Amino acid sequence: MEKLHTKLGKDVDSKKINPFTAHHKFLIVGGGTAGITVAAQLIKKLKKTDVAIIEPSEVHYYQPMWTFNGAGVLNKEKSQRLMKNVMPKNAVWIKDRVTEFEPERNVVVTASGDFYSYEYLIVAPGIQIDWDAIPGLAENIGSKGICSIYCYRHIDYVNECIQNMNGGTALFTQPNTKFKCGGAPQKIMYLSSDIWKKKGILDKIDVQFTSAGSVIFGVKEVAEALGPVVDRYNVDVKLLHNLKAIKADEKIAVYEILKDGKPVDEVEIKYDMLHVTPPQSSPDFIKHSPLSDAEGWVDVDKHTLQHNKYQNIFSLGDAGSTPNAKTGASVRKQSKVVTGNIISLLKTGKLDSSLSYDGYGSCPLITGFGKLILAEFDYDKKITPSLPINQMKERASMYYMKKDLLPLMYWHGMLKGRA
Ligand SMILES: Cc1cc2nc3c(=O)[nH]c(=O)nc-3n(C[C@H](O)[C@H](O)[C@H](O)COP(=O)(O)OP(=O)(O)OC[C@H]3O[C@@H](n4cnc5c(N)ncnc54)[C@H](O)[C@@H]3O)c2cc1C
Repeated sequence: MEKLHTKLGKDVDSKKINPFTAHHKFLIVGGGTAGITVAAQLIKKLKKTDVAIIEPSEVHYYQPMWTFNGAGVLNKEKSQRLMKNVMPKNAVWIKDRVTEFEPERNVVVTASGDFYSYEYLIVAPGIQIDWDAIPGLAENIGSKGICSIYCYRHIDYVNECIQNMNGGTALFTQPNTKFKCGGAPQKIMYLSSDIWKKKGILDKIDVQFTSAGSVIFGVKEVAEALGPVVDRYNVDVKLLHNLKAIKADEKIAVYEILKDGKPVDEVEIKYDMLHVTPPQSSPDFIKHSPLSDAEGWVDVDKHTLQHNKYQNIFSLGDAGSTPNAKTGASVRKQSKVVTGNIISLLKTGKLDSSLSYDGYGSCPLITGFGKLILAEFDYDKKITPSLPINQMKERASMYYMKKDLLPLMYWHGMLKGRA
């Protein structure tokens, strides 16, 4: 680690310079799924190299478990580890938050006013949850029957809502934005419905899937496979319904009805339980940075994951502009492309032409207790199954793989740079 002190140049002199500002060969923004995975791979492949991760959180979450946590299948504490325990050995953890990028000078600025320079920058701060975008949501989540598996703090309340239902209307929403894990809004609905079915009260509950989308799932084969599941639980599917506001005291959800992407009408639905998948967008500090594309995402080539303007910058995970399903499974594939390309650039001055991210994403659609449809697909929405079986069939084996095996693979494989 090389101390820069005041060597950063004229522009920086005019700002507050912390004397401990440092230079790192590889600087990673975000110690989530993508940041830790790439750090571990770089350290493993290059042996002892200089990797630093800027990450403000004390806790690292395995978010794919939150569906099971919300349904009361697994304890929510199982989805978290202390950040210090997932940081790869030999990586420097900078406990701070990035606020600005100065890519022309290879510098990032943090909330503490520190400046860090780098040789290679990997941008992986995830996606931003816009709780405030729906009036009535932020102030009432975790109360009055409004719940979400997208909020760790209130995950137990999801299960409380499910258990408290004896009859009435349960709404499950899907937003009109990009969001992480395309299947999560449905997975929690199917698990809830199965709980009510097992209790013998499903016929007293009007389960409605209210989605801003025009289809139930963006991959045709998967949408078809979900048909019988929807029928089994008697789910009322309301497409092109975008949650716009919540009148929490009256327990009314207000939806705008979409046509050609624009609101043409408004409806109100009274509910007893409202599970919200909140609107999401690129983090604000990315949107307002020179790294973003027109929509605010980190502007990278969809196959090489290299920034379209700055050759020593790469991005992967939920913050990237690549048009894949935003999942941890995608990160597993993307990380190999990022690490391989950076090492190739370092050694040969060129990207590794044998590496190309094909848009792989995976959505393990839990359709009930002991039942899962494993959807895997690429940019072209072509099914890309990992196993030589019909994955469009609900399977107990896939359910237990997701519940018991994948978390182990995550903590001990992916985050260690092995998977
Ligand atoms: C309910 C739910 C269910 C899901 N189910 C699945 C599933 O079944 N399968 C699957 O593959 N995926 C699933 N996912 C999606 C998966 O968790 C994400 O796609 C994955 O975590 C993305 O990794 P990431 O590193 O881009 O973001 P994250 O893992 O979210 O990490 C981002 C990190 O960046 C940090 N950060 C943010 N801002 C800054 C800043 N300014 N400076 C520095 N650091 C910053 C954050 O603190 C965080 O640690 C699910 C997600 C949710 C919420």
